[in-house]
Amino acid sequence: MTVFEKIVINEIPSYKIYEDDKFLSFLDISQASFGHTLIIPKKNYKDIFEIDEETLSQMAKVVSRISKALKKAFNLEGLNILNNNGLIAGQTVFHFHIHLIPRYKNDKIEFHLPNNIDIMDDKKYKEIQNKILDNIK
Ligand code: AMP
Repeated sequence: MTVFEKIVINEIPSYKIYEDDKFLSFLDISQASFGHTLIIPKKNYKDIFEIDEETLSQMAKVVSRISKALKKAFNLEGLNILNNNGLIAGQTVFHFHIHLIPRYKNDKIEFHLPNNIDIMDDKKYKEIQNKILDNIK
């Protein structure tokens, strides 16, 4: 059982923000920034590859609602929405979840994405584009 399933059944305490029959939202224990909140489906889907489209779209409504609450609560100028899938991507709890991370001036949070534009050309973009297109249902 994942730590989040234990939170769902109240075996582990959490600071709950929102709950309905399918979803739960609570404060992330690490508080990367004040207000750092997680949203999970109560049922355990391991990651984005397991969760179905219908559940994910219902979850988007909760993401929208909590994001707006955070903005009002902390008078936010910015918010990152983050979801890690797989160990290599930084996932540590294998129960699908979305992070809402409020952003403040000097919060010391850094996301660094490399820019590979220099090694790209039309052929490479098209090759990548076609690989993805071939696999969309
Ligand atoms: P990830 O690295 O994307 O899998 O995120 C997992 C998150 O779960 C981390 O940010 C942890 O701080 C958080 N976390 C782990 N255990 C708990 C807990 N008991 N209560 C709240 N958040 C937790």
